[in-house]
Amino acid sequence: MAETIFAKIIRKEIPAQIVFESDTVIAFKDINPQAPVHVLIIPKITEIESARDLDPGKHAKLLGELYDAANTIAKQLGVFESGFRLVLNSGADSGQEVPHIHIHLLGGRKMNWPPG
Ligand code: 5GP
Repeated sequence: MAETIFAKIIRKEIPAQIVFESDTVIAFKDINPQAPVHVLIIPKITEIESARDLDPGKHAKLLGELYDAANTIAKQLGVFESGFRLVLNSGADSGQEVPHIHIHLLGGRKMNWPPG
C-alpha cells in the first residue's frame, strides 16, 4: 500500500497541529479547514484505507476509540454542546483524497444539509 501524508504526520516527520493523541489514535487540524473547527481523527495503524476496509472482528475497539476521541476533542475545542458533524468519506464519489481512514470533525458554524 502506498504511503500517505498521514503516515508522515503520525511519525512526526511533517508538522501538524495535533490536538489529541493516544497509543492508537492521533488527531490534528485540517490544513484546509472547512469550518472554524476542522480536525482529522485517524488511527495510527496505516492498513485501513477507508471504511470499506473495516473488519468488525479486528477493528471494533479501534472504531470505538476513534469516536470516543471525537467526543473528547469536541469538548476540548468547545463545540460539544453547540453540535458538530463527523464525516467519513469512503472512495471516489465521496471525495476521499487520502487513502488512510479518517473522520472529519467539523464545528463552530451551522452546517447545511444535504452536504455538497
Ligand atoms: P478526504 O478528502 O480524503 O476525506 O480528506 C483529506 C483531508 O486531509 C482534506 O480535508 C485535506 O485538507 C487534509 N489534508 C491533506 N493533506 C494534509 C496535510 O498535509 N496536513 C493536514 N493537516 N491536513 C491535510
